[in-house]
Amino acid sequence: MARKTVGVIGAMEEEIKKLLENMENPNQVSVHGIPFFQGECQGVPIVLCKCGVGKTNAAITAMTLVNHFQVDQIIFTGVAGALDPDLDIGDIVVSRDCQYHDMDVRALGFDLGIIPFQEQSIFPADETLIHWAQAACSELDGVQVRKGRVLTGDQFVSDREKSKFLHQQLQGSCVEMEGAAVAHVAYMTKRPYVVIRSMSDRADQSAHVNFEEFTQLASDRSSYVVQRLLEQIGKM
Ligand code: SAH
Repeated sequence: MARKTVGVIGAMEEEIKKLLENMENPNQVSVHGIPFFQGECQGVPIVLCKCGVGKTNAAITAMTLVNHFQVDQIIFTGVAGALDPDLDIGDIVVSRDCQYHDMDVRALGFDLGIIPFQEQSIFPADETLIHWAQAACSELDGVQVRKGRVLTGDQFVSDREKSKFLHQQLQGSCVEMEGAAVAHVAYMTKRPYVVIRSMSDRADQSAHVNFEEFTQLASDRSSYVVQRLLEQIGKM
């Protein structure tokens, strides 16, 4: 039986650094100017890539993983701003689902986050991937883990009122800039996916300072979870 290939996406250099170090002799291929690294991680065939910041970059990359590299499942790894007030920097959110917070057609009577005339606006992640990602997180001491909603928009959220609003109105656990775009592609192409995000900041007035300071730590923590998750995928 052919082994399944996993697409692993991060938006920034910091988010894929650790995983790239863990691949032996990856084969680098550039498609549409995006660097992809083919090889194995924890014995599993993967295509690792850096999509760049924002929804369109994420969607183009995810679609390329599916159409060009024919990946069977998709994992997103990276950092996010915490919306759940109980989450600290370094804590982890495993996506139950993803939704756009900047899809705003309220002027025409649609709720915030709802894509007009489309069946699905909230994209559920794969239960098996969620389960094993959570199990991997439990090996981390002193780190809280939430299975929750990942909210995505083309905006770095650094305002307490806005983050409170997103938490209350859309029940977001964290906010970032790529997850729902990847989830949307996964949904349309019927690929199981999960987003793993470690908190680099609290999406408040200190977010830009925290982000600078904690992005590498949070990225490495998320990468650790992905490695354990891949190990598990290899046994399935
Ligand atoms: N690399 C640039 C821009 C980073 S944008 C820089 O160094 O300034 C922030 C990135 O981290 C995005 O990829 C996003 O997914 C994530 N992120 C972390 N905290 C966030 C927040 N508070 N709001 C939105 N995205 C956040």
